[in-house]
Amino acid sequence: MKRLWRGGRLVSLQGESGWGLIEDGALLTDGARILWVGLSSGLPPEAAGVEVHELGGALVTPGLVDCHTHLVYAGDRCQEFELRLHGASYAEIAQAGGGIRSTVIATRAATEAQLLAAAVPRARALIAEGVTTVEIKSGYGLSAESEARMLRVARSLALQGLEVRTTYLGAHAVPPEFEGRSDDYVDAVCDWLPGLHAEGLVDAVDAFCEHIAFSPAQVMRVFEAARQLGLPVKLHAEQLSDQGGSQLAAAFNALSCDHLEYLSDAGVSALATAGSVAVLLPGAYYALRETRLPPVGALRSAGVPIAIATDHNPGSSPTLSPLLMLNMACVLFRLTPEEALRGMTVNAARALGLTDRGRLAAGQRADFCVWDASHPRELTAYFGRNPLRQRVFEGNA
Ligand SMILES: [Zn+2]
Repeated sequence: MKRLWRGGRLVSLQGESGWGLIEDGALLTDGARILWVGLSSGLPPEAAGVEVHELGGALVTPGLVDCHTHLVYAGDRCQEFELRLHGASYAEIAQAGGGIRSTVIATRAATEAQLLAAAVPRARALIAEGVTTVEIKSGYGLSAESEARMLRVARSLALQGLEVRTTYLGAHAVPPEFEGRSDDYVDAVCDWLPGLHAEGLVDAVDAFCEHIAFSPAQVMRVFEAARQLGLPVKLHAEQLSDQGGSQLAAAFNALSCDHLEYLSDAGVSALATAGSVAVLLPGAYYALRETRLPPVGALRSAGVPIAIATDHNPGSSPTLSPLLMLNMACVLFRLTPEEALRGMTVNAARALGLTDRGRLAAGQRADFCVWDASHPRELTAYFGRNPLRQRVFEGNA
């Protein structure tokens, strides 16, 4: 079914820079794809007689892509929030059995139905701010069965009306039963992957490379298991210290490296050479009161594409507001408004290995947002305000 959306201010993001603004623009969709984009005054013949939606001068952007979330879990970690206020660090809480491990205990105890019931409102919150594609990681199960359960729940969130990409993050933390045997646990993580992949649950493989998590040598084994199955990799890298994880990930042509506050110049060069996306996560930076900034200037100079995501998780980034992340990316990381919006559209799609979304152009998915705003910079300047008028997903309003 074809639909015409006309009379809007389109933020096409076509080309490598600039907003790609089309004043008094129109979009013709055919089912779940964009068939044509241009001026309302120059419609193609295919637009004749189709269903028309008047945009009334509203702003239209590509649908938002949240390319790094841990949306499926049970329990909460608000007690840790209080502990941190009393001076405990993220690493100290993790070493005391809190952090990721406490979410693992709650997630293992939850049924698939309970996990889904908890995750649906989170997905709806992202949708309410314009998200049309979300990446969701496992990593709170840390057993073959519970990792599969998390990924199945993540997949089923697509029924809420958004596209879900799933990432296997078995190498997120060492579970209690493997205490002191992290190399054995890495063997297990690698052993579980083919089964999860065979069930169609894995779009990419991720790991947490950090002194409180896994070493580069251990991550390399996980990445080799992914490579054997032809699966792309990404990495939680250089968040709390410089482990050289980015160079390792780049050697595996990683889709992205994420966090990166402690990224070195050598890491920047490695990402640039590999074409990996730098995914910056201002929510975690803010919530952990990190003071070391990711090297935005060096990434920019080296031409590394930058993406922005919520990193939604119950501990270090309990936010469900992609719009707030756009604002924080500008205020905290000094991204330009255009860099921030590209970071949650076209570059976020690239961080997931996707080229069919993130721009308003013929052939792209018909996923877009209609905002009560006159310029795209408004989406980044305000915070705590949601001007979304309408979200169109696969051509359906
Ligand atoms: Zn994460």
